[in-house]
Amino acid sequence: MDSPLWIKDPLAILASDADRGIVLHNGRIVELVPAGRNPATADVHTFDASELVVLPGLINTHHHFFQTLTRAVPAALDRELFDWLQALYPIWAKLTPEALDLGTTMAMAELALSGCTMTTDHHYVFPAGLEDAIDIQVGVAQRLGLRVLLTRGSMNRSKRDGGLPPDSVVQDEDTILADSERVVSRHHQTGEGAMVQIALAPCSPFSVTTSLMRATADLAARRNVRLHTHLAETEDENRYCQETYKCRPLDYLQDCGWLGDRTWLAHGIHFNADEMKRLARARTSISHCACSNQTLASGHCPVCDMERAGVAIGIGVDGSASNDSSNLMQELRAAFLLQRSRYGVKAVSHNDALRWATRGSAACTGRTDIGEIAVDKMADLALFRLDEPRFSGSGDPLGALVLCGAHRADRVMVGGRWIVVDGAIPGLDMHELKMSHAAAARSLQSA
Ligand SMILES: [Zn+2]
Repeated sequence: MDSPLWIKDPLAILASDADRGIVLHNGRIVELVPAGRNPATADVHTFDASELVVLPGLINTHHHFFQTLTRAVPAALDRELFDWLQALYPIWAKLTPEALDLGTTMAMAELALSGCTMTTDHHYVFPAGLEDAIDIQVGVAQRLGLRVLLTRGSMNRSKRDGGLPPDSVVQDEDTILADSERVVSRHHQTGEGAMVQIALAPCSPFSVTTSLMRATADLAARRNVRLHTHLAETEDENRYCQETYKCRPLDYLQDCGWLGDRTWLAHGIHFNADEMKRLARARTSISHCACSNQTLASGHCPVCDMERAGVAIGIGVDGSASNDSSNLMQELRAAFLLQRSRYGVKAVSHNDALRWATRGSAACTGRTDIGEIAVDKMADLALFRLDEPRFSGSGDPLGALVLCGAHRADRVMVGGRWIVVDGAIPGLDMHELKMSHAAAARSLQSA
């Protein structure tokens, strides 16, 4: 067993009564050390945090790792969601296991370097030969040391059946359900401190059949795993649901048996006041993806109205083809700016944005053991140094992180283990990764 570690005298820390820092032991936070005191825990080693701002590890609640391979693709530039998807589906249909490994590694590395300790992913493209996509992603997470909630995505409603995607990227319902069951059995961990969890995630109302939506909800209930999908992202989706299902997206979701506390939804832009109350009553949570929504001009998630109604809000970077980066600290700042411009300076502070990306995101993932610096929570931390020109002369250290635009953590810890040290990932050759990743992206986009 490791000896306890005192993260001593931080420049600032997002916690109450921890001015002199925190003590970690066996992967958990075991003590908060108030001003004027020393740790009560015996035999502590010391880590000097006097030049570091300490946050709970940031949690990313929506992404598509494979899309790091299709950033700023010329044919998809300046398009709204449906056109953007149709430009990219044929490229994604050529995804290989090697490319997915590289795309996943790049996305998780970007996230970790920006202060992320846990991430979800929504992988929904399974062309022939990529049946082991989720297994590949589990392998990458274990190499890099991030906590993950990987979703087994799916699409089974192609053009032929009135959906949006081409036939080449969809699977049939039986194949999807059998593989969903397989990956849950093989990888899903339960209980506090879980490093790998699995959720089920049919892609969207316009790419999945009602039958698959319902069967997936049944399977998730039977295996006690979470459910995730895109919803209320665009006006086009509203129109599609009205025309195809004769109802609004949330009515459709409820009809499919999805409106409950195991579900978290990406985007949640176009809900009305009554729908927000229904989401709150059901304890369904929302992943706010500010950069993606602005890039695709999909609209803005009404975060403060949602929170007033009682809906938990987390932060998601979304796929790197719509963001086009995986920097969670920058995403948090984008959410802060977007929501402040909508609701005003009294309604939204930097603390709200930090809360969305930590406690709010933890709620989306169904976790109570992370998202906060408190006794018994997991030792998942992001530490930032304020020594870049952008911070020079700043007053409030926590405010400075958001307002001056922090984008790179100095150190990141998951379950008591450092996964980022001095702004780099130990054991990862970033130069080599960039070369291989760029080559895989070129090959996908040109073939
Ligand atoms: Zn998405």
